[in-house]
Amino acid sequence: MVSVKTKADIEKMHEAGKIAADALNAVEAKLRPGMTTRDIDKIVHHVITSHGAVPNFLGLYGFPASACVSVNEEVIHGIPGGRKLNEGDIVSVDLGARYKGWNSDTCYTFAVGQVAPEIRRLLDDTEASLYKAIEAAQIGARLGDVSHTVEAYCRERGYGIVQNYCGHGIGREVHEDPEVPNHGKAGHGMRLADGMTICIEPMINLVGDAVHTLKNGWTVVTDSGSWSAHFEHMIAITENGPMILTKR
Ligand code: MG
Repeated sequence: MVSVKTKADIEKMHEAGKIAADALNAVEAKLRPGMTTRDIDKIVHHVITSHGAVPNFLGLYGFPASACVSVNEEVIHGIPGGRKLNEGDIVSVDLGARYKGWNSDTCYTFAVGQVAPEIRRLLDDTEASLYKAIEAAQIGARLGDVSHTVEAYCRERGYGIVQNYCGHGIGREVHEDPEVPNHGKAGHGMRLADGMTICIEPMINLVGDAVHTLKNGWTVVTDSGSWSAHFEHMIAITENGPMILTKR
């Protein structure tokens, strides 16, 4: 079931989205080599709770932290811990806030200092594919138009596209219908309607589509060992076009 939100609902989700965006800003401001992924989680937890919101990833399906912090070859669901960030690494910070009963969800992949040129391109291209997909999320468009936009943009540039995980609807729950894959056929799938709120989140690998989960049961890594980028925004489909609710 896809739930449609009123303008007032979307305003409340925007509040939750701003808190999540704030948490990413705080991480970026403090990010430096030598930090651990646990340090990042602490920043996220602090920012979200200091707004009177709840880190909605904490305990979600049993996840043990406030943020998924995934480094280099880790695609998603990295568990914060003792891993130290080095100059030249990339780190994806995926988080969300629940505020007054409404959820947000966003992710950004940061470069730690200077990264290799092909990694810089991976980050820029993955982020660009997200914005192209958001632009495709207009009333009356099909879900497949959004998915296909990510796929076409990233395939053209030779990247691998993670297909085992995808974006999703969001609202009272973090994960609602519909699923929003990063691959699909233009002109196919559900029609987007005014008041739908979805998360679009390309997960793009430098080499190869394939991924697997580590023995910890959570962390998803690339089969190739190549690095992976992940950018996500929560958006509302509105009569004025797509509205980004987690803008930084
Ligand atoms: Mg998400």
